[in-house]
Amino acid sequence: MEKLDHKDYLNFTVGPVMMDDKIRKIGEQQIPYFRTDEFSYITLESERLIKEIIKTEEKSRVIFLTASGTGAMEATVMNTLSKDDKVLVVNGGSFGHRFEELCEIHEIPHEVIRLECGHKLTKEHLEQYRDKGFTAFLVNAHETSTGVLYDLELIGEFCKEQNIFLIVDSISSFIADKYEMDKCHIDVTIIASQKAIALPPGVSIIVVNERAVKRIEENNVKSMYFNLKSYLSNGERGQTPFTPAVGILIQLNAKLKDIAEVGVETYINRSRALAEDFRNKIKELPFEIVSENLSNAVTPLKPLGKMGAHDIFEYIKDNCNIFVCPNGGELRDTLFRVGHIGDLKIEYNDKLIEVLKDMYKRGML
Ligand SMILES: *Cc1c(COP(=O)(O)O)cnc(C)c1O
Repeated sequence: MEKLDHKDYLNFTVGPVMMDDKIRKIGEQQIPYFRTDEFSYITLESERLIKEIIKTEEKSRVIFLTASGTGAMEATVMNTLSKDDKVLVVNGGSFGHRFEELCEIHEIPHEVIRLECGHKLTKEHLEQYRDKGFTAFLVNAHETSTGVLYDLELIGEFCKEQNIFLIVDSISSFIADKYEMDKCHIDVTIIASQKAIALPPGVSIIVVNERAVKRIEENNVKSMYFNLKSYLSNGERGQTPFTPAVGILIQLNAKLKDIAEVGVETYINRSRALAEDFRNKIKELPFEIVSENLSNAVTPLKPLGKMGAHDIFEYIKDNCNIFVCPNGGELRDTLFRVGHIGDLKIEYNDKLIEVLKDMYKRGML
């Protein structure tokens, strides 16, 4: 543990990820005071850019929370759902399980679609829940623990037909995979700063449409910090009720301008190219890519040889200054992941492949 100088590490995790030079330069600067017209302008501009990138209508609103992604998931469950709801939760791994736990903690009536590890959600799954009185749906766009990208068009169509309120955690998918909020009939989208938008951790974002705003306004939430009504009213003038992560919001604004300038497709294509390159090169090595319908954000790898997934992560971290992404819980020894988000390059893939090849040659894998 004596060396915690991470500047020379290559980081293939899913967050925090490698940040580009421009974002890091902004991080060096002093933090300005924020109850000003200048800062309000930045926040309002970011709101507009996010709505444009995520493809939702002008009337939708954007809430900036100073919390990790889970904070935004919890705030969403607390503020847009109630005991009168009947919620369908997709649990295909640890992030789906998190939504299930949040419903339990906040006593929201719910049923769970439990998917086998690495499997996608199908039309057949959904059909069993048709006309059963469900009022809301909770799903992660990308179940980051297994790499599965769910079919949001399919889910959105089902929710529209059944008049179900649709909440999507797009934390690890936003700008790595295609995402069209309104087209998929999504009412709430959740994002976090440390995944594909490649900023420091600390800010999460909740995009809400008119229907979601109405639910927030009508809900009686017993919380000061997580009462989204005050975020909506303060947000009208580009402010937040409490001190936000000012520095990260400034970095976010710069990032959003970059994304808007080149087009979100450029970012999605970049992740796709990194993912395809890596998936091609890993074929020669003793790993199985376990999941169906993979996100561009991550490749889940099951080691087929003697070394367990977590030991591979530790070995590569300690000996090669590279972070791959370990799993916790049940998947700890059977699955690790290689991310394709953040400021990565094809040469970095080559470097990681070289390390794995070398381990294989020495009989470790
Ligand atoms: C990373 C992630 C989260 C949030 O995790 P935090 O550690 O709370 O930021 C939530 N959902 C998904 C799908 C994620 O990948």
